[in-house]
Amino acid sequence: MLYHSTNNPAHQVDLKEAVLRSLPPDNGLYMPNTLPTLGEDFWKIWRDLSFQEIGYAVADAFFGEDVPEEALSEIVDGTLEFDAPVVTLAPGDHILELFHGPTLAFKDFGARFMARLMAWLTRAEDRELTVLVATSGDTGGAVASAFHHVEGTRVFILYPKGKVSGLQEKQLTTLGGNIHALEVDGTFDDCQRLVKSAFLDRELSERMNLTSANSINLSRLAPQSFYYIHSARQIEAKPVFVVPSGNFGNLTAGLLARQLGLSVEKFVAATNINDVVPAYLQSGTYTPRPSAATISNAMDVGAPSNFARMEAIFEKSWDAMRGKISGVSYTDDETRAAIREVKETLDYTIDPHGAVGWLAARQWREDHPGSETITLETAHPSKFLDVMNEELGPNPVEIPERLAILADRQKVAHPLTMDEAAFKDWLATQ
Ligand SMILES: *Cc1c(COP(=O)(O)O)cnc(C)c1O
Repeated sequence: MLYHSTNNPAHQVDLKEAVLRSLPPDNGLYMPNTLPTLGEDFWKIWRDLSFQEIGYAVADAFFGEDVPEEALSEIVDGTLEFDAPVVTLAPGDHILELFHGPTLAFKDFGARFMARLMAWLTRAEDRELTVLVATSGDTGGAVASAFHHVEGTRVFILYPKGKVSGLQEKQLTTLGGNIHALEVDGTFDDCQRLVKSAFLDRELSERMNLTSANSINLSRLAPQSFYYIHSARQIEAKPVFVVPSGNFGNLTAGLLARQLGLSVEKFVAATNINDVVPAYLQSGTYTPRPSAATISNAMDVGAPSNFARMEAIFEKSWDAMRGKISGVSYTDDETRAAIREVKETLDYTIDPHGAVGWLAARQWREDHPGSETITLETAHPSKFLDVMNEELGPNPVEIPERLAILADRQKVAHPLTMDEAAFKDWLATQ
């Protein structure tokens, strides 16, 4: 399969380049030349398949031309070491829990698949693959955990000193092995600048076999479409998927599941006040703008990076996109009230991102009686203890064991200044 840039259909690359490069040089996004579909044979039996079996079929549809079946099923097995259960809160009100992975957020699915696919794509090279990633918190943890112990790879994570939460820092700095944390005396933007400077140094980049684990990497989307199919088969009705969205990778993965042949009534894009996409769906005008801080901070995005992919899927037709996606946004006050209401009336603890989705789902069911919504719960509430404490009182959520044990682990991080030359010199000696 060949992949092209959304900015230039003539710029075509193979799977290895699309995955290891992450971004085309023209700043577009990579898309497969033909969007894969699953045949009738699959849709005859899909309701009886396991999560893993759905994963094999979808991965094969995307990557089967380039990756042999045995390697692909190992990649899928390594990705899906935990479940994504559907919990029904009330008739028609379903929650898809995507937080049962090692870092308690849905990003584990994409990051684990990407790590294993990258390792396979570079298996014949005698040099290690060096992954450089800058993080403001959560992405770094998912990437670190995903690459931990993956053979032939090592990871350098740059994070801003004193600007990530205590537990986030532990997630980055306590793994050891092939994961190296670099504590930068600067901001997240400085971390990103340092990473960029290493990539722009062609000689260094070649010699160290550098790659980025960027969140818009194409290989993160395919595994995210697994759970749309896995959850849809657990309800009778044609599902309405409600997706709490920031960069719109998760929602794009849902669109890919629909292209594969999944029957979907509607996608509801639920955002906080960073509502660039809901506003576009309303008005037809796309106006990116700087993001504003909210309590659902993983969705604080003012220029969603997957929008170009969504446009490509709907062939740049506003009407076509509106026909399949509805958009709605909520304030922090509404989100806080929803966290309390879900607890009091349904006895379920929902995180701020999921709460934005739950509000949108309720609105949809009110406007369309009889429909069934599946709301993606993108993170475990214990990742947002401050907000949960404020709304639900002391100790509202139990911290899962895999997060709690980190508190006692020893932090290991290499200190860095913001100086690009010093960073590159240091990296070259590693
Ligand atoms: C990343 C993230 C989102 C937003 O997902 P996108 O794919 O960027 O739209 C939502 N919730 C949580 C908890 C996240 O970590």
